[in-house]
Formats: sequence, structure tokens, C-alpha cells
Amino acid sequence: MKKMFLFKALAAATVFSSALISAPAVAQQKFVTIGTGGVTGVYYAAGGAICRLMNKDRAKHGIRCSVESTGGSVANINTIRGGDLDFGMAQSDVQYNASKGQQMFQKDGAFSDLRAVFSVHPEPFTVLARKEANISKFSDLKGKRVNIGNPGSGTRAAMDQLLTAMGWKASDFSLAAELKADEHGPALCDNKIDAFFYGVGHPSANIQDPIVTCGAKLVPLTGPAVDKLVADAPYYAKVDIPGGLYAGNPNPTPTYGVLATLVTSVKVPDATVYELVKAVFENFDDFKKLHPAFAHLDPKKMVKDGLSAPLHPGAVKYYKEKGWM
Ligand code: GLU
Repeated sequence: MKKMFLFKALAAATVFSSALISAPAVAQQKFVTIGTGGVTGVYYAAGGAICRLMNKDRAKHGIRCSVESTGGSVANINTIRGGDLDFGMAQSDVQYNASKGQQMFQKDGAFSDLRAVFSVHPEPFTVLARKEANISKFSDLKGKRVNIGNPGSGTRAAMDQLLTAMGWKASDFSLAAELKADEHGPALCDNKIDAFFYGVGHPSANIQDPIVTCGAKLVPLTGPAVDKLVADAPYYAKVDIPGGLYAGNPNPTPTYGVLATLVTSVKVPDATVYELVKAVFENFDDFKKLHPAFAHLDPKKMVKDGLSAPLHPGAVKYYKEKGWM
């Protein structure tokens, strides 16, 4: 019995090791994954655009890129930290707090291996309300049913900071829902919530759908709490959601916001990051056409604005070749 078992084990080991020896000849392909957000948001489109351009040259560099729908910025950074994701989209505020070990990253400490790749579109914090809910400013949300975002989203991280600045708690809402971004539009139109909060690029299908389906309205997000947040935090800026992007919302909506960014870990090889940024910037006109929120992007700004973690050396190599730094 014992001998038989040993023989089988040896045979298996032989097969295994010969497979290992012949592996490099067949398995040249490398895989990278980009963590994004909900499928109706702009992160998913950004990841898709990056992968599409990268995969175009797969025969040359041997890297196959794929995207994953995730809970958003904080989840992406935590998954990169755990070694289970190569790249992730993240709000610039979340990148800042992760690299410094602040806010929701205080417990785990600074993520010193976090590396910036580039920034993408602006993400104004967006409040969308039911037209029947009598909400014309953020303070009208008191006592209402509000989606504050799923834990793990950058949206939720920003909402928590906003509530602190307002001196409010989640219990100041009659309902503080924690729906994912893909669920908040349908919940709004089904009268399950009165409003939702979302940090997202514009225009976005996620905002467009409830506007078209049930006439939802954009709500300005201004006041002393926002003024203080913008004055105190280097990653916040006042911005407008441009007028005319959505039906029935012809005027700019004043609010504040951050930038979307792409991040990775220092552990991802320089050549991989180099090929990713090269694919995006060598095909930049195509990239900009892949989503309307990318229409106004400027490469020289993308390689510096909104980035607080050090740039990955693979990205630096390409940016230096282009004379952008
Ligand atoms: N900024 C959002 C977040 O981190 C995601 C936005 C999107 O998916 O486009 O939660």
C-alpha cells in the first residue's frame, strides 16, 4: 500500500515538474486586472478603455488586461494592498488618505507601496433627488431617505467626511441606505429613497438613467461645511457639474469634488506599468473618444494633478521619454 502510494506521488511529481520545465515555452502571456466600480459608473468605462488599448498590442508585449467591477476606490486600494489586484481606480482623496494612513486608512496605517499612475476625469460629488422630494439644497436631506454609498466606495468615504463637517450623523437621515452605485438609481425611481450621493464623472449613464426614467434633479452642494472641507483638505476643489449635460438640468450645479486616478503597487513590474501608460498615451485620441467624461483630458495634467502617492517608476520612464517631467 505504502509503496503504491509513494510511486503515485513520485509519478505525479514527475509530471508536475516536467510541466514546470516546459511552462516558459507556452505561457508567455501575463495577466493584469484593473479594479473599477459599478458597471454603470465611469470607472468601469475607464478601466475598459485602458484594457482595450492595452490588449490591442497584446501580441507585442504579451500582457492581457481585464477589468473587474468592484465596490469602488477604498475596496480597490485595499485589494491592491492585499496583492489580489494589479491596478485600481481611486478617487484622489482616497489615494491621498491611503498614502498617508489618514481617515479610513488610519487603522491599517500608510500604504507605503501605493503608486500613482495618472489621473483621469473630475468627479464632482453629486446629489440626485426625486423631483417630488422637495430637496433643493443639501441641508434639505435632513430627515429624508438617503443613499450614503456602500462601504468600500470612495463615495461613502467622502460622505462620511461631509457628515462630520456638517456635524451630522447617518441617523440624521430617516434612512441611511448603503446601496451600491448600480442600485441607487432604480431605488430612487422606485421611491425607496429620496436622494443619493455619488462621486462620479459626468456625463454618466448612472445619473442619466434616473433623470430620464423619473425626472430626478441635480441638487447643489454648497455651504459653510463644504467651504471648510475645501479650505482644509488639499484634495478637494469647488467645481460645477456643467449645465446641459442632462435633460431638464440646463444650469451648472455648484458642488465640490476630486479627480479620478489610476493607482498600482510598487510590486507591479516597471515594464507592465510602462506598457499600460504607453498604450493609453500613444492612442490618446482613441482613449478620449471611449467615454464623454474623457473629452477634456490633457496628458500633461494627468501625469501630475491629483496624485499624492509617488509615481510608479514604469510610468515615470514613459513620461520622461515624452518630456512631460
Ligand atoms: N468614485 C466612485 C467611488 O470610488 C466610483 C465612481 C465610478 O465608478 O465611476 O466609489
